[in-house]
Amino acid sequence: LKEMNARSVWHPMAHPADSQKNPPTIVTGAQGVRITDVDGHEVVDGVGGLWNVNLGFSCQPVKDAIAAQLDRLPYYSIFRGTTNDCVIELAEELRDFFAPDGLSRAFYTSGGSDSVETALRLARQYHKVKGEPARIKYLSLKKGYHGTHTGGASVNGNANFRTQYEPLLPGCYHIPAPYTYRNPFNETDPEKLAQLCLQALEDEIAFQGAGTIAAMIMEPVLGAGGVIPPHESFMPAVREICSKHGILLIADEVITAFGRTGSWTGSRHWGVQPDLMCTAKAITNGYFPFGAVMISDAVAEVFEQDETGLAAIGHGYTYSGHPVGAAAALACLAETKRLNVKDNAAERGAELFAGLQALQADFDVIGDVRGGHGLMCALELVSDRATKAPIDKARVNKVQEVAYQSGAMVRVSGPNIILSPPLVLASEDVQVILSSLRAGFESL
Ligand code: PMP
Repeated sequence: LKEMNARSVWHPMAHPADSQKNPPTIVTGAQGVRITDVDGHEVVDGVGGLWNVNLGFSCQPVKDAIAAQLDRLPYYSIFRGTTNDCVIELAEELRDFFAPDGLSRAFYTSGGSDSVETALRLARQYHKVKGEPARIKYLSLKKGYHGTHTGGASVNGNANFRTQYEPLLPGCYHIPAPYTYRNPFNETDPEKLAQLCLQALEDEIAFQGAGTIAAMIMEPVLGAGGVIPPHESFMPAVREICSKHGILLIADEVITAFGRTGSWTGSRHWGVQPDLMCTAKAITNGYFPFGAVMISDAVAEVFEQDETGLAAIGHGYTYSGHPVGAAAALACLAETKRLNVKDNAAERGAELFAGLQALQADFDVIGDVRGGHGLMCALELVSDRATKAPIDKARVNKVQEVAYQSGAMVRVSGPNIILSPPLVLASEDVQVILSSLRAGFESL
């Protein structure tokens, strides 16, 4: 399998030759919160698939719902003129779930990048329909991650994901992120840093001209950029600034929706109602590629009351509102609520965060520990804690490798070790992740 993989599979987010140099782990099974590889080695999944398997891998009601849907109606398009009963039922459930976020309509997609693309397009179109066609620019945060379609890559805050594909969308501007460990202001106080980033946002809006900006897109807690939770003042202030200038706020909750932060949504944790919210990942817990952009009443009404014809939508995917995805999402939502996974995320997340802080006390190589918002945590590794000098990538990989041999799959992203396990894991599983990481650090 390793040889065949190297000769025939190109892996996303990897150099094509990586498979020869560092053959990937071949996962052949998964049950509960554990995965098994081709050699029969079983570990706790500290990654949760890819931040998406919130309910673990053995969710019988979801499997049953998918099987029943496959028998009844495996596929039909929901493009204008037809729909299916499943997506209607799901939209009503989502409307209920996202009511506290002020979101009431669902535009279905087939994943996170599609949700971002949809939201960016809806934002521009919203302004056109309102008679403000000059609003075409987008703002986002440095270190933000918004998927890999061309729009999403353009607002991506990490230049590594942009430069190789340029020219991308013009008119995208990236604001400093409230990243306390490293920032251009050398500010270590989270509240003061939030103020400086907000000032940078105001300055950029003034420089660009508010009337040229369609939307600001942000993750409530930055995920792929290395788990960066902003100070609590930050997102509410962004909301206020956007409202003041007529700029739509898009919350990219592809990771954070459905309980990962210990709240049902990241926006709700900060008391913010966005205009549009991107969801995907845990909406189907990995069982089916699926997503939805949730839309506020105020935005929806502008489209619905349009008489100019500008709101006619030339956007959608063959698999938008796939009935099997919708059936999976309905069952996942029911399980998510029945198990109240947000509370376990908060409790186990606090244990994990405390355990990681204890590790930092023992290993100098851990420069920063980030978490405190449910089950998303990161360790940023450095070669020198005083100077924060970057660490050799091979050493980060070594920690991951030994942690895996010791019982837990963890994820490496640049200098960070990222943890986003299923939200249903038990305290003992948290301990396995921590002891495996300890073994990893001891091996250095
Ligand atoms: N937005 C965010 C915040 C994400 O974390 C991701 C994926 N990690 C995406 C968008 C893209 O989602 P997908 O990989 O499903 O296209």
